[in-house]
Amino acid sequence: MSETPCDRLGWIDRELAALDALGLRRRVSTRSGPQAARLVIDGRELVNFGSNDYLALAADQRLSAAVAEAAGREGWGSGASPLVSGYGQGHRRLEERLAEFEGTEAALLFSSGYAANTGVVAALVGRGDVVFADRKNHASLLDGCRLSRADVRVYPHGDWQRLDELLATAGNYRRRLITTDGLFSMDGDLAPLDKLAEVAQRRDAMLLVDEAHATGVFGPQGRGVAELLGVEDRVDVRVGTLSKALSSLGGFVTGSRSLVEWLVNRARPYVFSTAMPSAATAAALIALAIIRDEPDRRRRLLTRAESLRHQLIEQGWDVGNSASQIIPLVVGEPGRAVELAAALRHHGLFVPAIRPPTVPEGESCLRISLTCGHTQEMVGELVEALGDLRR
Ligand code: PMP
Repeated sequence: MSETPCDRLGWIDRELAALDALGLRRRVSTRSGPQAARLVIDGRELVNFGSNDYLALAADQRLSAAVAEAAGREGWGSGASPLVSGYGQGHRRLEERLAEFEGTEAALLFSSGYAANTGVVAALVGRGDVVFADRKNHASLLDGCRLSRADVRVYPHGDWQRLDELLATAGNYRRRLITTDGLFSMDGDLAPLDKLAEVAQRRDAMLLVDEAHATGVFGPQGRGVAELLGVEDRVDVRVGTLSKALSSLGGFVTGSRSLVEWLVNRARPYVFSTAMPSAATAAALIALAIIRDEPDRRRRLLTRAESLRHQLIEQGWDVGNSASQIIPLVVGEPGRAVELAAALRHHGLFVPAIRPPTVPEGESCLRISLTCGHTQEMVGELVEALGDLRR
């Protein structure tokens, strides 16, 4: 006798119950109103330390007005993938502007940063190649490595010497690719891009850097960690997202014109997925202009982050090697992270608990994400509540 479809999916409820028991079950909470420094979640107003809206542009009227105006002109839906009929004037303009901003020959838009990472890695390496990945790389880079069918070698976090050793024995591969986040999304620390660039050069490997969390925040012009460390011309492929400091949606890759041509032909998420609405690009265009014209936003953010880090260390929290606006409070067990997040909510503060699989086992944390929209008072409330929780 065959099982009913419901019975065949019965394992899902058992697995979900197991996640519950481990404190690993995730749920989506619904926000009402804009995503800003204060936010209403499930009917309750909280100070928001859980967003990647680093330059506080998500609710900026300049962005929403530009999108509304562009949608009035161009409509909303894009109807098809870029290569079929999905590209509008907005896509073209934003690609030109991104290349100009990054100082590269060309740029290519994807529908998300996730799509950009999976697409670009799998387009650069395949069977017979090898790809190296920092242990703390974002999941989208790792998924790109897996999809590529190249041999994948994971190196310890930030350990360029170990990477160098691994590459020393990789001479027989057709192509070698090193992939790393510029600013690590959960640890808030910076990749040693100067060292990685040296290793790449010495071992004839391509170097890809995902600047998702650093664009708009690090570097004199806000281009990211490669700019900060002065190695932009030694990074072959830069990936970025429009979804964090640029407060929009979509991902991008910048580099040489031939790189972009290759991706147009070979990056599967580009070829086989509908283009984002052309009108949506209007928000990122305005955000890029704000990054250029209002550098004080990123300066203020990093100064405030440094001061917060010092206060948290003084209180005895483990902030790892954070050197940015992302400050983890590493507590180890997922249950402890959830407990602390709940206690902070009680104080009117939203700080998400980050648990496996987002971080490795034993490294659950509270992830504080600062934006330049937080006031001194808001940060003060957080410090006071965390101080109480240490006592
Ligand atoms: N790279 C990193 C380092 C990220 O943290 C993220 C998103 N969390 C992405 C890429 C994916 O970007 P998007 O949200 O635009 O898909």
